[in-house]
Amino acid sequence: MDLKAPRGTKDILPPESALWKEIETAVDGVAALFGYEEIRTPMFEQASLFKRSVGEETDIVSKEMYLFTDKGGEEMALRPELTASVVRAAIEHNLVTKQASCSRLYYNSAPMFRYERPQMGRQRQFHQFGIELLGASSALADLQVIEFALAVYKKLGFSNFHLKLNTLGNLSSRERWREELVKYLQFNLETLSEDSKRRLETNPLRILDSKNPADQAIVAGAPEITDYLDESDSEHFDELKALLAAAKIPFTIEPHLVRGLDYYNRTVFELTSSDLGSQDALCGGGRYDGLIEKLGGPPTPAVGFAAGVERLVLVLSKLRGGEMAAKKTDIYIVLADKGGREVGIEIASELRNAGFRVLFDLLDRSIKAQMREADKTGTRFVLVLGNDELAAGEITLKRMDTGAQERIPQQNIAARLKNP
Ligand code: AMP
Repeated sequence: MDLKAPRGTKDILPPESALWKEIETAVDGVAALFGYEEIRTPMFEQASLFKRSVGEETDIVSKEMYLFTDKGGEEMALRPELTASVVRAAIEHNLVTKQASCSRLYYNSAPMFRYERPQMGRQRQFHQFGIELLGASSALADLQVIEFALAVYKKLGFSNFHLKLNTLGNLSSRERWREELVKYLQFNLETLSEDSKRRLETNPLRILDSKNPADQAIVAGAPEITDYLDESDSEHFDELKALLAAAKIPFTIEPHLVRGLDYYNRTVFELTSSDLGSQDALCGGGRYDGLIEKLGGPPTPAVGFAAGVERLVLVLSKLRGGEMAAKKTDIYIVLADKGGREVGIEIASELRNAGFRVLFDLLDRSIKAQMREADKTGTRFVLVLGNDELAAGEITLKRMDTGAQERIPQQNIAARLKNP
């Protein structure tokens, strides 16, 4: 048999899966502290949802989306991101209304699908956590979204990241800037890379992201959005910068940070980590004030972020020196004689009910082999149950740290081991 996981996907195995759980628990914990509630949406949606929201010309939709026609003849897509789905769900279930109100939603370890060229930190099925804050237009809301992301990283003991910030203005200032940018890039057409020449036709803003040195030299002299902002956009951006400074969150302004999705306006941001390689973006987000209306809901401002779990796992396992120890066992019960099975099972269940992590042999192995396994699990206590012990209503307790051994009564064993 030559079956393998599809290219660009990964099995998450122990002990790494424990790190995933830790990240998920941290996200749940931060969400509870900020008052966000979880949303889960389907893994696939009508393809038109992403075409209308993320944008037909974006790489995500035009090149990377997993499309299929279902048996009813409808064009479906595996979700490449979650904002569009959350907005669709919010409109469908009236989570956004005309009244002034705010929906605080988060998602955790949600699988996403993009047909990309797999490399370190870039997969075809990957996972994100993130939040969508629907209904708030203030810079305070932008700050909260950034603070939320930082709180998760801090909770996990990670601090080596960098916040990049930009504003894209409103749709009309962004359009004016885009026109000037296209003019400027057309003027420099000869020097642009082939990729960027093509992008000039389809998605010119993406040229600003280009890693090609010739493109970067041209981009350095390109018109900047900050010169096209209207007064209220500038005020919003200034307010956010002041709030970040007050919250002591360091950032740099990156005038060419545009993000690869069409729906953003005003604030966009990215958190990067130097502990990652070329795929250094840990998380990205921004404001999407026009999206809810565009998808048929009432005009509603919104802001959010999405963070990659795989990249965080990479960073955290590096931070912890690659050590991801399996959880240690508390108690290993050695069944020295077959006759002790029933009592052994009973004691194991009593101890588990009291919160101990309990293992015993499932392979009918010799006492020596059972002791060897007990040792491997890093257990604190070994309990030996043989015919002798059975006859006396006792059990032998061995403390693995000191090697000390004693016979104790089987009764109230959980209480006894709580205060050993
Ligand atoms: P985006 O949805 O493109 O804004 O991405 C948000 C975050 O998701 C990125 O900063 C990455 O951490 C993560 N991410 C995006 N695409 C991938 C991918 N193909 N593989 C792994 N992580 C990804």
